[in-house]
Parts: sequence; C-alpha cells; structure tokens
Amino acid sequence: MDQLIENKILKADLAFNEWKKVPFEERQQLIAKAAALLSADSEKFGKIITTEMNKPIAQSVAEVEKCALMMNYYAEAENILKPEKVDSEFHYSEIQYVPKGVILGVMPWNFPFWQVLRFAVPAILAGNTVVLKHASICFGSGNAIEQVFLEAGFPEGIFQNLEVGHGEVKEILEHKAIMGVSLTGSEKAGAEVASIAGQNIKKSLLELGGSDAFIVLSDADLDEAAKVGALARLQNCGQTCVAAKRFIIDEKIEEEFLPKFIEEYKKFVPGDPMDKETKISGMARADLADDLEKQFNKALENGAEIILPLERVSENAFTPGLIRVNPGNPILQEELFGPLGMILTAQNDEEAVRIANDIPFGLSNSVWTKDQERQKLFIENLESGTVNINRMTSSDPRFPFGGTKSSGYGTELSLLALREFVTPRTVVGN
Ligand code: NDP
Repeated sequence: MDQLIENKILKADLAFNEWKKVPFEERQQLIAKAAALLSADSEKFGKIITTEMNKPIAQSVAEVEKCALMMNYYAEAENILKPEKVDSEFHYSEIQYVPKGVILGVMPWNFPFWQVLRFAVPAILAGNTVVLKHASICFGSGNAIEQVFLEAGFPEGIFQNLEVGHGEVKEILEHKAIMGVSLTGSEKAGAEVASIAGQNIKKSLLELGGSDAFIVLSDADLDEAAKVGALARLQNCGQTCVAAKRFIIDEKIEEEFLPKFIEEYKKFVPGDPMDKETKISGMARADLADDLEKQFNKALENGAEIILPLERVSENAFTPGLIRVNPGNPILQEELFGPLGMILTAQNDEEAVRIANDIPFGLSNSVWTKDQERQKLFIENLESGTVNINRMTSSDPRFPFGGTKSSGYGTELSLLALREFVTPRTVVGN
C-alpha cells in the first residue's frame, strides 16, 4: 500500500481513540459549524461540483445547501446513542452504543457532496472517523469537504480524502484499522466491495441503483403529475438513483396525460452547466453517455417504440428521450442512469403494482392518486424502501433512506443512521 495512504489510515485510527471520548453535544457543535461554512460558500462549492461532473450550477448550489440542512438536522438531533438501562434483576444492566472505528466511504460522482456527507456526518457523530475513496472524477469535491471539516474545528484525522482509484479499495478495506464500509454506486461495485468486506468480517452498507416507478392513476392531478414527473426523471440529467425511470400510466388517462408529460419533458433542453437558467446539461462522463445510447438501442431491438428520440448533441449530452416499453422487454431489468424515460400502461391498479415490482431493484416509488383506498393498495404492496404519494422521491434528513432487493441494505439519514456503525454492547451482571 502507498505509504501516504497507510499514514492517513493510521492517523484516522489514532484520531478515533480521542474522538470516541468527545461528548455527543460537542460533536454536534462542530457539525453545525461545518454546515454554516457550507451555506456561506455554497456558490463556491457548487462550482466545484459543476466543474467536475457537469451538473447545472443551480442544482449544484442546491445540493450544497441541502447538505447544510441535513447537517443542521444532525446538529440538533436527539442523542439515541446514550446508554440505555434495561429492567432486569442485575446490578449492571444496560446497552451501550460503541463506535466501530475508521469507516471507509466509497462514493459516486452523481451528488459529489451529498452522497459523501449523507454517509459521513452520522458516522462521525456516532464517534467514528472516516476515510473517503471518492469517484475518480470528484477528488476536488473530496478535498473541499476535508477542508470544511478542518476549518470547522474538527481534529485532524476525523475526515480524510484518500485520492485513490477503485483498484486500491480492496487493500484499504483489508487494512486492520478499517472497521466497515459504506458504498453508494453500481450493483457491480457494491457486490465486489461487500464481498471483500464479508471475507474480512467487516460491516458493509450498500446504497445501489434503482428503477423507480412513477405511477399515474386515473384520478390524479395530471398537470401536476406531468410537471413533477419530467423533473423526477430529468433532474441531474437523469443520473439519480431515486429518479423516476418507469412511468406506469393508467390506460384510462394515457391519452390525456401523455401530451402534458411530453410538453413538460421538452422544457429540458441541454445547455451550459454554468448558466443559472440551465435545467439539464451533459452527463458526467462520455463513456456513461455511450452506455445509455447502447441501452436505448437494446430497448428498441426488443420492441420499444420511440415517443421522443434520445438525440446525442455532444460528446456527453442528449436531448432527453422517451420510449414506450412493453412488459418483458429486458431493458426493464436495467437501470437507465441518464435522460431516457420509459412509459408503460396498466389496465388496473393490481397490474400497476405487478409491473412496478417486476424489477430486481427496490429503492423508491411514487404513486399519484387522490383516493385513499387506492393509495393504501400501493403502500401495502410496493416493494421499495420508500413510497411517495403525490410527490416525487426526494430524500429528507428526517426520514430513513435505503433500499431493498438489489438496491442494497442498511439505512442512511434519520436517527436510525446513527446506529449503523456502532456495536450495541451489553453490560450485565452484579
Ligand atoms: P461505480 O459504481 O463504478 O462508481 C461508484 C464508486 O465506486 C466510485 O468511487 C468508483 O471508483 C467505485 N468503484 C467502482 N468499482 C469498484 C470496485 N470494483 N471496487 C471498489 N470500488 C469501486 O459507478 P460508475 O461511475 O461506473 O457508473 C456506472 C453505473 O453505476 C451508472 O450508470 C449507474 O447505473 C450506477 N451508479 C449508481 C449510483 C447511485 O447513486 N446509486 C451512483 C453512480 C453510479 P472509480 O471512480 O475510481 O471507478
């Protein structure tokens, strides 16, 4: 292992020995300071994001501001890691929550600040220290985040950016000081990293892909569903794990809904990512655009029909595409991580549930109906970590975030995330 990397891991381990003794409330004060630094310079940090992965600047600045919001949530959160007394016949009778140590974060490029901080903040608040392996195009974001932690007054070694490629993750994860890993990214990367963690008996948390359904039923507010649906698919150029990827439309309103949806969709015209008015720009890398184009062709070869063509306008940008897909098309089993949406129709609510669940993923779903009985059917039967009613999926620090099936395991956000990288220690006896 590179000596510089080894030194950083050892430094994180040393820092952990002191950090775990710092009271929860003091850790919270530092998190609040870091949040204030992010808010104060959201434009500057937003530019780093846009420069690295092409996200339109208004969305990059919003990402940084959302990080500050999440950090303020944790800065004021109830301490659910206090020792808990258990009623028993013993003198010692309690559960303690003991931080694990140095946790590795393997993070993607689609939300270069949010993904990192969403994992790191609760892990650090729980008393762990963090080393980051960021996506190879996002080292600038990783370094900027490390700088924010230091400027906020966190001791050195609490959060460090490693600047390594994915080939080095195995050796880092096998290092005896690393006690767990959290990965956000593709299923392939998740499976590889989790198997290394498993072989070394280390805890892993996986936040992987999705192919969320956006289900529009006959009594929905169609104007609102069309507007929100286009945003839910095309925000961040479609490169979001919880983007709406499959639009399942009640066949009774298809004729009325589709023109409204197309009209909203066409408002996303590729532009300069640094222009504040731009709603969509290029994908993060040209090879990701190549992959999306291949998936588009695969869908067509298997019978999909074009509603709006996916037109490549530069090395990495498209005018957004929309295709009609029938159940059984193998493309439905894949994640489309870019500006390409799929339309399916359902004859009734039961069929809509069946179609929605017929994928390997289980991240989130969105259902549009005003009828509470119909809402109940979907809430009870959709196989996903989140169900949204008459709103698009958008993570909220107060609620848990995570998937089922191939979308991964473990919980981010909410108070529950504080318990991911701790060991509940039983202390019992006389
Ligand atoms: P990856 O999953 O390959 O990258 C995400 C992170 O994992 C990066 O830090 C990457 O490092 C790292 N990584 C990749 N392979 C390994 C490995 N074998 N061992 C350890 N770490 C690894 O995503 P891609 O950038 O290649 O995007 C491909 C697809 O993944 C997308 O089209 C999308 O479907 C999905 N994806 C999903 C995301 C989500 O939010 N759920 C986020 C990003 C991608 P490095 O950059 O060095 O390769």
